[in-house]
Amino acid sequence: MAGKWSSPGVPHKGWTCTSVEDLGAPDETCEMCETQDIRYVHHMEHPDYPESLAVGCVCAEHMENDYEGPRRREKALRNAAQRKRRWLSRKWKVSVKENAYLNTDGLNITVFQRNPKLWGARIEDRATGRSVSSRRPHQTEDAAKLAAFDAMIFLKKERGWGT
Ligand SMILES: [Zn+2]
Repeated sequence: MAGKWSSPGVPHKGWTCTSVEDLGAPDETCEMCETQDIRYVHHMEHPDYPESLAVGCVCAEHMENDYEGPRRREKALRNAAQRKRRWLSRKWKVSVKENAYLNTDGLNITVFQRNPKLWGARIEDRATGRSVSSRRPHQTEDAAKLAAFDAMIFLKKERGWGT
């Protein structure tokens, strides 16, 4: 067992996925096995572990004890790839706080600057008022918009948000 699989204090089961991200290329290493290079990043949380872990499909399967969900989540992103290519060129509006936002799919997606070098995003289900903010800071506004796209696909597919 590699990486955190053999670290004491890291739970093996009972994790929940909070979002999936398509990096476009295998640009990161799985934070659980610390071996696998990953393109699709599954963000995993556990009530007995302080941090969120960014992991690959295989580790996500074991951590959730679900051998269909992680693949299904990746497939949803693959199916949305064509739409994602047009995402940045959509007509983003600017809010009174001067944040770029888009109302689409029954959701409000807002991108904001956390500090001069870091960007975040927030998605709100306009029907219910539920919202989530990105956990990871992004270095550019476009990166935050693209991450928000992935989060939107996840929330629609896995949580039934929006339309
Ligand atoms: Zn792994």
